[in-house]
Amino acid sequence: MIKTTRNNRRTKPDYQIKLAKERIDILAKEAEKAHAENPKMARRYYKLAKKIGMRYNVKIPTVVKRKFCKWCFSFLSEGWRLKKGVMRNTCKTCGKHIRYPYKPMRHK
Ligand SMILES: [Zn+2]
Repeated sequence: MIKTTRNNRRTKPDYQIKLAKERIDILAKEAEKAHAENPKMARRYYKLAKKIGMRYNVKIPTVVKRKFCKWCFSFLSEGWRLKKGVMRNTCKTCGKHIRYPYKPMRHK
C-alpha cells in the first residue's frame, strides 16, 4: 500500500515548507535593509519571519539568527566577544546578553 497521507499532524506539505523558507528569506532581507532607518519595521519583519518558522517547523538560517536579538528581535551590531567557546553580544535595545557556543580553534 502506498502511503499518501501525512503520518503526523505536525508536518506540513512540502510546497508549504518551501514557501515558508522563501518568505523567511525575503523577510530577513527586508529586516536587514530596514534596520538602519526604521528599526521598528526591522523588528516586525524579523518577528514575522520567526513566527513563520515556528508555524512551519522551518529553521531560520544561522547567519540571519546571529544578526538579531533573541528576545526583542532588534538588529544587533557587530559586537561579538569571544571567550572560552562562547560568543557573546549585548543587545542595545533590551540590554540582554545573547550567547552562542562556538568551537574554538585548536592550537598545536
Ligand atoms: Zn534585545
